[in-house]
Amino acid sequence: MGQLNAGIVPVTPFQQNCTILFDADDKTGVVVDPGGDVENILAAIEANGIKVTAIWLTHGHIDHAGGAMELKDALGVDIIGPHEDDRMLLDNIEAQAQRFGLPGAVRNCVPDRFLTEGEVVSFGDHKFEVLHCPGHAPGHVVYYNRDAKFAHVGDVLFSGSIGRTDLPGGDHAALIRSIKEKLLPLGDDIGFICGHGPGGRFGEERRNNPFLV
Ligand SMILES: [Zn+2]
Ligand SMILES: [Zn+2]
Repeated sequence: MGQLNAGIVPVTPFQQNCTILFDADDKTGVVVDPGGDVENILAAIEANGIKVTAIWLTHGHIDHAGGAMELKDALGVDIIGPHEDDRMLLDNIEAQAQRFGLPGAVRNCVPDRFLTEGEVVSFGDHKFEVLHCPGHAPGHVVYYNRDAKFAHVGDVLFSGSIGRTDLPGGDHAALIRSIKEKLLPLGDDIGFICGHGPGGRFGEERRNNPFLV
């Protein structure tokens, strides 16, 4: 098993961090949150020789899931996640596009499989525990790799900020609980990638994030 690597392709007007997680040796991997600009994602996959085995979603917002069906059709792989509580959001991606005035061919998303708390998903020998972290979206999940001390947290937590909770299904108190009871206890040394902007480490957020102190 090679090292776990991550490449980021910014997508959509929201500059969402579509993330390609892959094994440095055998180049198998997954695409997390292909929100749009699918041609750019496909170009990155091809340029780096990645063998994509699945699409993983953190939650059902348009900037994360809007391109998932198109990428699934292009690659012939399954869409895994998020938690079923985001079904309503996934069914309304086209309506979200109208609400935000976004052009382009986004499609409502039907995952091949929803995820539940405590499940393990993997590619090659890289295993990720699924943490159900509602608050920003009711069915938001986080993918945690214990061996690599790494988490993909989507829009739950940002460097110096947290996900917005004013969208349908948002819940500020639930979001704070998700962060404080599920993410931070994993340890200060856990590195994270998030849906927007730079990633960081949980310890830095625990000590200095103004929404958590
Ligand atoms: Zn979101
Ligand atoms: Zn987002």
